[in-house]
Amino acid sequence: MPVDATLPYDDGNVFARILRGEIPATRLYEDEWALAFPDIDPQAPTHILVIPKGAYVSWDDFSAHAPAEEIAGFVRAVGTVARAAGLVESGYRLLANTGPHSHQEVPHLHVHLFAGAPLGPMLARD
Ligand code: AMP
Repeated sequence: MPVDATLPYDDGNVFARILRGEIPATRLYEDEWALAFPDIDPQAPTHILVIPKGAYVSWDDFSAHAPAEEIAGFVRAVGTVARAAGLVESGYRLLANTGPHSHQEVPHLHVHLFAGAPLGPMLARD
């Protein structure tokens, strides 16, 4: 069920629970601002999720309300994860679903990092 990205933050969402260690995830990278772990249902040979440690529903919430230091820390973390995974030369794709038309499912901001093979067209065409 796509989420309404305008709703207040729900502390019980699955990524909040991963951050608190209540649900297991393989922690590929972690710093003061961000956590990266593999997507449970990978859509590419490499499919990593990078989430901010702060409580933000979506890209909209984060870009509007996060302090500049937190935005910089998170954006740098996404780049660090890709670099550490050796993905810069072959390339990768970033995606942040926001709200119903995007089919955002989890109401905690997450950036999908796809890589490992040619990724095809940017959007599926029906
Ligand atoms: P989105 O549709 O952009 O909200 O993407 C949510 C993503 O979270 C999907 O790709 C799911 O496969 C992934 N996901 C859901 N639960 C977990 C989990 N426990 N661990 C890792 N990934 C998850």
